[in-house]
Amino acid sequence: MTGVLIVGGSVAGVRTAQRLRAGGYAGSITIVDRERHLPYDRPPLSKDVLLADEPVFPSLLTAEEAENLRLELALGVAATSLDVTEREVGLSDGRSLGYQEALVVATGARARTSPWPGVLDVRCWEDAVNLRTALRRARSVLVIGAGFIGAEVASAARGLGLEVHLIDIAEVPMARHFGAEIGALFADLHRRHGVNTHFGATLDEIAERGGRFRARLGDGTEIAADVAVAGLGTELNTEWLTGSGLAVDSGVVCDAGGRAQNATDVYAVGDTARWWHPARKLLLRSEHWTSAVEQAGVVAHNILNQESPREHLSLDYVWSNQHDWKIQIAGTPGTGAHHLVQDGDRFAVLWARDDDELGGVLTVNWPQVAVQGRRSLAAGQPMSRLAEHLAGRLTPSV
Ligand code: FAD
Repeated sequence: MTGVLIVGGSVAGVRTAQRLRAGGYAGSITIVDRERHLPYDRPPLSKDVLLADEPVFPSLLTAEEAENLRLELALGVAATSLDVTEREVGLSDGRSLGYQEALVVATGARARTSPWPGVLDVRCWEDAVNLRTALRRARSVLVIGAGFIGAEVASAARGLGLEVHLIDIAEVPMARHFGAEIGALFADLHRRHGVNTHFGATLDEIAERGGRFRARLGDGTEIAADVAVAGLGTELNTEWLTGSGLAVDSGVVCDAGGRAQNATDVYAVGDTARWWHPARKLLLRSEHWTSAVEQAGVVAHNILNQESPREHLSLDYVWSNQHDWKIQIAGTPGTGAHHLVQDGDRFAVLWARDDDELGGVLTVNWPQVAVQGRRSLAAGQPMSRLAEHLAGRLTPSV
């Protein structure tokens, strides 16, 4: 029996434990994770880990830090079931672990499995190390999927000097998030950096023979590459909650303070959690590092202060590094009308809601505007005000 049981020892779980201790929680805390590594961060796996001469393990919590915080780590063991009445989690080694005060579900997501044998993906440390090794032995790579992860892998592979083929079923990458015009800027970015892009392409066939992948696209294009890697999105690690009675609907359904429906003292944080957003009046699930950290803070507070719970009101924030772009996105960009402000090789895109209130901001190589955009979003300011402010700051080109 432990005081607080946290299932999932990545950023959401670890930050919850740290915030509980920072808030003065004196009871026992146990973190269970099916991976055998000490907790680590994922964003560097598709960036620095692939590019660095020596891969550095992106540690989130050392054994010493865990000891100092009196965190019990049960690594290499998966949660397999939850009984909310008995307040008990079943484990893959046959044991079960009870919790007295709270259970925190922080089991995140995994890479959607590709149906093609030998095609790599990148979600965990081993994946990144395998991909890194494979890329260093290769001269060419085929990347399937031009979302954030695929684009970052394509960018890293170009950084390593490989011939890169990037394919996506969408006519324009990222159009689903930002619309076709902004998506076209992403397509140009890849092309300018020498990526062979195949957008609007279906993958009819891919097979590995003699250590080389051969792919055939719907339009008959044949591609050969030494390595193939897929970024096909994610699937949630919620199977262990089946039969628990928790409401799981594209994520563990929670109130605005992270408390799960249909159970007492059960919370969910991070990629696997779908929280009620009181201002937008809908359930939102975010697969971004910053949201995981913020939710962890709210849940730690709410475990410690049941009489004065907090709500999570903040907006999405995500960053990505692709080629020479440092991308920052805040709020909810849309696919429709937007305002594009260009200043040399940096730019910002602003989206408004119907009433001109700023809804989302994307910046490229313009961190000051990203900060300003996040402030304007938080303050509910009009988009036109930020647009005018930016226009006033630009040096007119001669
Ligand atoms: P996860 O990180 O998915 O961790 C869940 C943990 O739960 C894992 O350790 C897993 O082993 C464990 N687990 C799962 N099931 C069980 C079980 N049944 N029993 C026990 N343990 C279990 N976000 C950004 O904002 N910017 C970026 O640039 C960015 N880059 C990324 C690059 C990569 C390659 C990846 C994979 C993600 C990236 N993200 C980025 C997203 C960000 O890393 C995630 O939002 C974040 O990791 C979510 O944390 P989490 O703790 O909720 O879940």
